[in-house]
Amino acid sequence: MPLKLECPKCGDVCKANTEKDLLEIAEEHVKEEHPEMELDNKTVEDLKSMVKEV
Ligand SMILES: [Zn+2]
Repeated sequence: MPLKLECPKCGDVCKANTEKDLLEIAEEHVKEEHPEMELDNKTVEDLKSMVKEV
């Protein structure tokens, strides 16, 4: 089941087939586009809670 995650900062949509892949893509996106965003546990939990099935 494909999953998607919309970036809370810019609305960019990341897509992947597994939550693990999706979070890796999202972390890359945050590092490149939003270096001011801290990827601490809470942020990752927030991102996880925003994952939706496509
Ligand atoms: Zn973004």
